Amino acid sequence: MATLEINDLHVTVDAEGGPREILKGVDLTVKQGETHAIMGPNGSGKSTLAYSLAGHPKYTITGGTVTLDGEDVLAMTVDERARAGVFLAMQYPVEVPGVSVSNFLRTSATAIRGEAPKLRTWVKEVKETMENLQIDPAFAERNVNEGFSGGEKKRHEILQLELLKPRIAILDETDSGLDVDALRIVSEGVNRVRETGTVGTLLITHYTRILRYIKPDFVHVFAQGRIAESGGAELADKLENEGYEAYVKGGATA
Ligand code: ADP
Ligand code: MG
Ligand code: MG
Repeated sequence: MATLEINDLHVTVDAEGGPREILKGVDLTVKQGETHAIMGPNGSGKSTLAYSLAGHPKYTITGGTVTLDGEDVLAMTVDERARAGVFLAMQYPVEVPGVSVSNFLRTSATAIRGEAPKLRTWVKEVKETMENLQIDPAFAERNVNEGFSGGEKKRHEILQLELLKPRIAILDETDSGLDVDALRIVSEGVNRVRETGTVGTLLITHYTRILRYIKPDFVHVFAQGRIAESGGAELADKLENEGYEAYVKGGATA
């Protein structure tokens, strides 16, 4: 049973005028099979947490620990983290010019599994997953994220999630910019992965809307660089009604 354990995590970002502390002591444990929603106002540091876990070079860890089954995640390179089973779907996915979706998926799967997936089963798996996500087959030959619409980017992230089968999935605002049909399709993909019971999910979101489709086991309110409150799914209902105001001291949400 994979367990991601975040302990008193402090992170700074290199901003103009010097380093600025964004994460101010994050504590969180995510186990395989669990879905945790991280909710919070804009600028509270949710994406910083996601990037820090994935090993983005722009963020400096100044304190605390992150372990996956006791292994030091912070000591791992970005590639090692991916091979260990940590997956990040970014809020703003980046273009990979000259690399087709099809090649990208196969290369990623090969890197993570340590061997190339068997071609016949792989092609079938990709085709079925794309059908489930209602992605046009021609999409496989397009370059990663080049000219993708917001919805296409998000579906592509979930396509990766379903095919790469991580142990810990960090989904950063996977719901943003989706119309209601796309939101349902994307959520169904997340739920399919969840039903395997082999993934622990960190569902980062500003809005409660996606939680109608993906029922979290735990909800955490993120404010000013740390978790301000944790609870069950009922906490999301409270946020829906009351917003984040109670958690934001001084009113500045960036
Ligand atoms: P959220 O995802 O909750 O909206 P972010 O993690 O994106 O919050 O940002 C938290 C704070 O850190 C914001 O004030 C943001 O401006 C700042 N920040 C994040 N990344 C950078 C960066 N690369 N350079 C400068 N400031 C940053
Ligand atoms: Mg934001
Ligand atoms: Mg964000």
